[in-house]
Amino acid sequence: MITVLRLGHRINRDKRITTHVALVARAFGADKILVDTKDKKIEEVIHSVCERFGGNFEIETGVNGKKILREWPGEIVHLTMYGAELDRVVKKINRNSDLLVVVGSEKIPGFVYELADFNVSVGNQPHSEVAALAVFLDRYNKGSWLNKKFDGKLQIVPSDKGKKVVSKE
Ligand code: SAM
Repeated sequence: MITVLRLGHRINRDKRITTHVALVARAFGADKILVDTKDKKIEEVIHSVCERFGGNFEIETGVNGKKILREWPGEIVHLTMYGAELDRVVKKINRNSDLLVVVGSEKIPGFVYELADFNVSVGNQPHSEVAALAVFLDRYNKGSWLNKKFDGKLQIVPSDKGKKVVSKE
C-alpha cells in the first residue's frame, strides 16, 4: 500500500496544487493521500473524481503530520531536492512494507528529514511536488500504473482525435 502525505497545505494558496498532488497520487498508483490541514473542498473534489472515474483511492485531511511520521509502521520516503539520487535509492525501499511518500509545500521542518528512512531527490533542481511525486511513483512501480484498471462509471477511450468517453450509466 502506498500513502502520500502532503505537508504544509494552505487552504487558499495551495488548493489547486494539493488537488493536483492528490490526482497524481491516485492516477500513478498510490492508494491514499493524507493532507495536514482540514480541507473539505479538496475532499469533495477527490471524492467526485473517484465516484466518476473509479478506483478505491482515499483522502483524509486535517491529519497530524508529525504523529503520522513518528508512528508510521512501514518505510518513509521524503521527496526533497536535497535528497539522495532517486535511481540509487529506489532499489533500497522495502516493497513488503507500507510506503509513506512525503511531499511539502513551503519550508519543510527538520524533523521530516530525521524521521524519513530515505530523503530522495528527483534531480537536484527545485521544481514541484506534483512533478516529483509523478516521477517517483513511476520509477517506484516501474510504469505499472499505466495499466491500472479503475473500472469507473466513466471510461476514456484513447483516441487520436477528439474525445471518446464511455459511460456505464
Ligand atoms: N523550499 C522547500 C524546501 O525547503 O524543501 C521546497 C519547496 S518545493 C516548491 C515543494 C515540494 O516539492 C518540496 O517539499 C518537495 O517535496 C518537492 N520537490 C521540489 N523539487 C524537488 C526535487 N528536485 N526533488 C524532490 N522533490 C522536490
